[in-house]
Amino acid sequence: MSPDGAQERDPEAGRRLVRVAIGGAAIAVLLTGFFQMRAADWPIYAIVAALTVVLTAPPVRILPDLSLPVPLMAAMSGFLYIGGLPILVVNFAVDLVMSVLVRVLPPEVVGRVRPLRLLRDFRSSPSGSRFGPMRVVNVEHAVFIVGLAARWWVATAVTGGEPIWTSVVAIAIAEVVGYSVWGGLSFLPVFPDRPLFPLAGSQEQIRPLIGDIALTLQIVVTAFIYLIVYSYAETGLLGAGTFAVASLAVLLVLERLNDRRLQLEEQNRTLARLNRELEHRERLSAIGKMASVVSHQILQQLGVIGIYANLVRTASTDGSAPESALARTRLHGAAIEGALEDVNRVLRDLLVFSRDLRVNPYHHEVVSLLEEAAAAARPTAEEHGVRLRVECPGDLGAELDKLKMKQALENVLRNAIDASPAGGEVVVGARRDGDVLEVFVTDEGAGVPLENREAIFTPFFTTKENGSGLGLAIAREFTRAHGGDVDVVPGAGGRGARFRLRLPVGGDAGSSRAGVPTPSR
Ligand code: ADP
Repeated sequence: MSPDGAQERDPEAGRRLVRVAIGGAAIAVLLTGFFQMRAADWPIYAIVAALTVVLTAPPVRILPDLSLPVPLMAAMSGFLYIGGLPILVVNFAVDLVMSVLVRVLPPEVVGRVRPLRLLRDFRSSPSGSRFGPMRVVNVEHAVFIVGLAARWWVATAVTGGEPIWTSVVAIAIAEVVGYSVWGGLSFLPVFPDRPLFPLAGSQEQIRPLIGDIALTLQIVVTAFIYLIVYSYAETGLLGAGTFAVASLAVLLVLERLNDRRLQLEEQNRTLARLNRELEHRERLSAIGKMASVVSHQILQQLGVIGIYANLVRTASTDGSAPESALARTRLHGAAIEGALEDVNRVLRDLLVFSRDLRVNPYHHEVVSLLEEAAAAARPTAEEHGVRLRVECPGDLGAELDKLKMKQALENVLRNAIDASPAGGEVVVGARRDGDVLEVFVTDEGAGVPLENREAIFTPFFTTKENGSGLGLAIAREFTRAHGGDVDVVPGAGGRGARFRLRLPVGGDAGSSRAGVPTPSR
């Protein structure tokens, strides 16, 4: 197997070959990447190059005269060159047996045995009607061997009867011809994904053909050819063959990796598109919900206003004392004002909710925030006969947007008062829990059923006749804008509800959104 029987083998040849293999592979990878693939693929090349360096390090003596430096490549080439023919024979035999089985066995048995079922389905598919998958594999092998034969023939012809290994030019030409034959044969109509000319037209069908031609060109044009020729000169035909197959394998692996990545990217794009569609639909549905809630509220209150306005317009003493008629009319006027206040509240909530959520945090004493929110809620609490208590250490301070947190707290307080029985107590308080400031509101109402504990914070969720469903959504958005979050748990002893607005403190509470761990329930 020595390039020249009389010549002594150069002990340095193996080492040189290692260097050439690594250099050639690196150049080939660079060129391939440069011509075909994108910058994003370079991590893959780096990994392949690093693996090549590791795998090519120890030269391995395969035959007495042949030391190949590439265990992995040598294994592949040995398998393909030496094992190619037996594989062909075995494939034909298996294909024959399976074809007979598919014909003679009852359909339900064929359906139960996977390889048989695949063969049957493949045959009945439009693209595979004439050729079974095994036959396609066989033709692949045959094409490969024809390619090798073409190489050998050309090399022999070019050297004119001289031993082939005397001419590096001969082997170079042979390689070019061999790959061209291989590329040309891949046009055969046997391959279901590569139709014969005239092409069926669709780009999808042309793509594999272009891929084959590109692969052939890559091997012929890039440094792989240099690698093959050099290894021929160093170690003879088997070395050249090894590198020919190995080059092919490297390119195929790279292409496969690239295909996988492209597939993944496509999947990601599809996922992103679906997400966008979902978001769009959710937004549409939220707008629909908002329109229905807001118009319902406003129409209802306009109805009330209409009734009382009519009463005011047609007011008369009707024989009663003018003072009592005046008092009645005043009551009607107050009812109109109440209805107007309800309409105002819905529109105000809507406005607050749709405004931007940027916060302007400054240092504040938490107790003053709680007291201001309690003061705003006190008239409603008195109206409901509910006691309101503030419970907060005086030295507690935090960086927060007071206006927004006060609004959030007022919304939670209003609900707590609504939910409380007359004579009940609502407590608004705060405490420090490590790096978290917990502002809480407890009541002695019916509490929030477990299944609604998430839903009550979504916009337009309401169980009230006159509710807008925006109060808690606003509270949550404002708390989240501070990097915190809000939740509800049962009150002490399982009675009532305890709303917890948890804000990160100690850092920049205003700009951080990463912040607060979800409170345990
Ligand atoms: P609205 O008060 O307009 O209904 P919110 O967003 O403020 O809107 O509240 C949503 C829902 O959450 C209420 O309709 C109610 O069912 C429930 N909820 C809020 N706070 C309490 C509470 N303290 N106790 C019981 N349920 C509550």
